[in-house]
Amino acid sequence: MHLSIRNLYKTFDDFVALDRISLDVGDHDFICLLGPSGCGKTTLLRIIAGLMPFDGGALTMGDTDLAAIPARERGFGIVFQSYSLFPNMTVAENVAYGLKIRKESSDAIQTRVEALLEMIKLPHLAERYPHQLSGGQQQRVAIARALAVDPALLLLDEPLSALDARVRVEMRAEIREVQRRLGIPTIMVTHDQEEALSLADTIVCMNQGRIEQTGTPEDLYLRPRTRFVADFVGQSNLLPTAWVREACPECLDGRPDGKDEAFELCIRPEMVALSRDETAEGRVTDISFLGNVTRLQVAWRGRALAAEISGPCGLRPGDAVAAALSSGAWVRT
Ligand code: ATP
Repeated sequence: MHLSIRNLYKTFDDFVALDRISLDVGDHDFICLLGPSGCGKTTLLRIIAGLMPFDGGALTMGDTDLAAIPARERGFGIVFQSYSLFPNMTVAENVAYGLKIRKESSDAIQTRVEALLEMIKLPHLAERYPHQLSGGQQQRVAIARALAVDPALLLLDEPLSALDARVRVEMRAEIREVQRRLGIPTIMVTHDQEEALSLADTIVCMNQGRIEQTGTPEDLYLRPRTRFVADFVGQSNLLPTAWVREACPECLDGRPDGKDEAFELCIRPEMVALSRDETAEGRVTDISFLGNVTRLQVAWRGRALAAEISGPCGLRPGDAVAAALSSGAWVRT
């Protein structure tokens, strides 16, 4: 069933937290709400969950107007950032909770709980209590609990943010696999762009209560439409039109009509090609070797450019280099 959000509006006193948000969530979609702290991601998720009212617009699931339906009757699974397991219940009891409320038979509950614990790879921990689990294990159980009732929609609010970096990356893959296998439409809030790029079918990039851009991860990375998106998703060189006209006139191709100040050219660091050239005016000013890539800062035609080369590069600070820019996207400032 299709979730449709139309011109959703939400204020806290005179502060506009959500400013006419529109979004469609299809049957098997994995959507990430991505944006900086305070942009309205959690507010939007809470409104979808039914945990908070809204002031304008429409929220429907299929033909049902959700505004009239309380949270517990929406049939959505929710996982929050902080582990919200019941501390006095075992893992198995936590996962079984929603099924018990629905008064399912104990045989059916047991079968379902076993299958879910198998899926999250924790069948051996069924009898443990939450305080006896690691953070990553607790979040897996929270996800299993949310999935137990076959939710029409899975809502995840920064479910990985309390975990350490390595566990986060592992859990990303697990969440994606479970979501694909079950085909449950999922909306996940995150402020971590790498997480959004790696997980989402569709990223909704938000800024100050508005949607800046909705698109696939490739769209947002390769074809950002605004300076905000270019800057928030990945690293970028944002080059003013006037500078491009002087320094790299061939890059003006494809520039939309409008005042110089209205647009900038976004060039990702890996699209800056450097070649050692004693006669060139470019200078390497800084190098960091990160293993799989080397990041460089280059002073070129009056600007500092960020460049990235895969693997080690053999250049040193002070080396003279020529730079060539390609595959830029023009963004609104
Ligand atoms: P974070 O990543 O920090 O959680 P967020 O994008 O999820 O940020 P929200 O929690 O949705 O942001 O908050 C959006 C804005 O609305 C913030 O400026 C916040 O201060 C404000 N806000 C949220 N809840 C309330 C409330 N109950 N009363 C007043 N203002 C609120």
